[in-house]
Amino acid sequence: MVLYNSQVEGTASVNILSYGDADRVVREHAARLDRGARHRETLALLEAVGRVLVVPIIADRDQPPFSRSTRDGFACRSADLAAGNLLTLIGRIRAGEAWDGPSIDQGQAVEIMTGAPIPAGADCVLMVEHAAIEGAEVRPARQIAAGENIVTAGAEAPSGAILVPEGTRIRPQHISAAAACGYQGLTVYARPRLAILSTGDELVPVETEPPPHQIRNSNSYSIAAQVLEHGGRPVLFPVIPDELDAIEEVIEKALECELLVLSGGVSMGKYDFVEQALLKLGAEFFFTGVRIQPGRPVVFGRLPAAPAKYRYFFGLPGNPVSTMVTFSLFAAPILSALSGETSSSSHFAEARLSDGIGEKPGLTRFLPGRLESDATRTVVFPIPWQGSGDQAAAAQTNCFIVVPDDSGRLKEGDRVSVLFL
Ligand code: AMP
Ligand code: MG
Repeated sequence: MVLYNSQVEGTASVNILSYGDADRVVREHAARLDRGARHRETLALLEAVGRVLVVPIIADRDQPPFSRSTRDGFACRSADLAAGNLLTLIGRIRAGEAWDGPSIDQGQAVEIMTGAPIPAGADCVLMVEHAAIEGAEVRPARQIAAGENIVTAGAEAPSGAILVPEGTRIRPQHISAAAACGYQGLTVYARPRLAILSTGDELVPVETEPPPHQIRNSNSYSIAAQVLEHGGRPVLFPVIPDELDAIEEVIEKALECELLVLSGGVSMGKYDFVEQALLKLGAEFFFTGVRIQPGRPVVFGRLPAAPAKYRYFFGLPGNPVSTMVTFSLFAAPILSALSGETSSSSHFAEARLSDGIGEKPGLTRFLPGRLESDATRTVVFPIPWQGSGDQAAAAQTNCFIVVPDDSGRLKEGDRVSVLFL
């Protein structure tokens, strides 16, 4: 305990934005990041899941490579079905076989399996459910049009087409396309390193038993977990005490990482020195607060650095729920751009409220919620909480309910957006 704080005063000029403006500022910077300078690496197909593609995935041949039956049934001529004629079966073809019989003639049909190539002369496949076999003949129960149940060669993508462009975060559907085209590995961007700097005299490392008046440093870990989910490489620095020089010293070391995230020390308290430390290092601030709850004191800016021209940083408020929400809202889009993604994946969805929410004009709020959905409805239940330090409530969430600053009172059944961490 001391009687007064004798360290130098001085803060960045105050620039508090609405959520919409802060979001725009972050996305403008994300869009302008230099894409060419990123390192790249080639990984085995499955190791590339979750990474960002550098070299596009190209169709190595027509997709499908041959005109393919999409059903089990009978390949025939649609004109023959018009009169409801009996068709003569002249053979059978299964997936993986090539048809080496004659071209299908008037009144003929070939029994065909899903995935098999369409024999010459046929222009449709009558589903097995819509026909009856009578000895060596088939009795059609439907009349179908030319082209039905056939995907023609190249209809999905011609040979040489880009199936997955550069800048895509690789998900299972992209692995499917790559495997179909014979890729055994993919070239991806190296994961950007994100420095995590937690400040606070009250913090002890997770391995240490805290005395009654101290707490464990959980933010470094929640941030690291979010970094991993957004394709970055977390670099955890030891906890920094609330001292200007100490904070400055660690920030300087952290400039080797592509992005800096500080936790704590950005409020108006007597020992909140993060902004001062950043200022001393020549920081330019894009905002020093956002009218949101939780997370109002969040800071975004950049620092001069060599050999890169500058490094972006975020100062996130230390309250654990504020830290996670502000990371997701503001740091994640920059991290995703640094990792090479051309369009950041969406972390919002829409749901209906299970209960009303009172108004708080002028603040965009992100309230703990639990989304429950099935194929026909998506409902979000607000979770009671004790405010932005309530880690127990956060642990019950699977989303945060977005309450716009001008929404008025929300009623049960109203549509809202939800944010996923
Ligand atoms: P600050 O933003 O430094 O004013 O901190 C706000 C609140 O968050 C205080 O109750 C801190 O003890 C808590 N806090 C700050 N940093 C952390 C951290 N790394 N892990 C857990 N809680 C933290
Ligand atoms: Mg603090």
